Amino acid sequence: MADKIYEYKDENDWFIGDMSGHNSLSYLGDEHKIDDPLFNLNRLLDGVLEIDVLSEEEWRHPRGYRVTVVKLTSEMKLINFVLDMVNEQFGRRLETRQHQGAILLLEEDRLLAVHLPKGGVNTSDFFGKKQSTFGDKLLIATHNEGKVKEFRKMFASLGIEVESLNDYPDLPEVEETGMTFEENARLKAETISKLTGRMVLADDSGLKVDALGGLPGVWSARFSAPEPTDDKNNAKLLHELAMVFEQKDRSAQFHSTLVVAAPNKESLVVAADWPGYIAYEAKGEGGFGYDPLFLVGETGQTAAQLSPEQKNDISHRGLAMKKLMEEFPAWQN
Ligand code: IMP
Repeated sequence: MADKIYEYKDENDWFIGDMSGHNSLSYLGDEHKIDDPLFNLNRLLDGVLEIDVLSEEEWRHPRGYRVTVVKLTSEMKLINFVLDMVNEQFGRRLETRQHQGAILLLEEDRLLAVHLPKGGVNTSDFFGKKQSTFGDKLLIATHNEGKVKEFRKMFASLGIEVESLNDYPDLPEVEETGMTFEENARLKAETISKLTGRMVLADDSGLKVDALGGLPGVWSARFSAPEPTDDKNNAKLLHELAMVFEQKDRSAQFHSTLVVAAPNKESLVVAADWPGYIAYEAKGEGGFGYDPLFLVGETGQTAAQLSPEQKNDISHRGLAMKKLMEEFPAWQN
């Protein structure tokens, strides 16, 4: 019997697993698919784990991964899910890294396996003979050093150097005049890319409350204009929802859109939502903005009660960044 059940679920992917199998990945209901990606993934992971011939005892009480896939769009997420289980069970340090569209499996500084996308990758890109036309530098369209630090950490794994607007003090401010998150993020990324000739990443985020028809939305930062502050924004939100008594009617989502723009290239756009509910009063000291009012799913905790690591792992921004890391290498090529 497995003593722990693992689960990963978001809007696109859903996996359930334990460590009492013979290293297997299967679809829920054993649904057979032509050109089955699970078959190749299982062969790759099984190979990396290097399990030798099992003793009779181990055969009867196996400790390998056994994962049921309910929904699969990201192979990277599935590999990470399995590696996290194996790392916890056997104290290993397996991890993944993206490189030019391929997924590398590593342990400390050893490369153990490479999972290639369908159709393979271009060898000169993979081995780094060809430089991308805008170089391997990415300008993040923000002055916020906290955000820059997070992006720097993520892009380091792709060998991309990150700079911010603080390195370009003469650039004009770009007004967020769009009616959607994507319009605003595009406006920032594409305007600054045109002005500098660089590859630029911009984000736009906010809170969408269903009972308010999606407001405050792109106006989240300015909800209590003319002189908005986080406290005033939160007070206004509570006031607007004063007559919405039931928690189920106070549903909301934090949203994040990320856009990467580069000269003469169609921009890359990714987006993610983090669903929750608006509380009846503020709780928690962490985070910023609407975090003290944002109840995380059914947990009863607000986003302001999570540690920064817990929040990054599940938040709209964290999810959008993960999607970006998956799509960026192929886009850059
Ligand atoms: P921006 O995308 O950084 O301009 O953020 C827009 C506004 O959305 C912020 O000023 C906050 O009011 C709100 N917001 C975005 N993300 C979060 C979050 O993670 N927690 C709380 N509020 C957020």
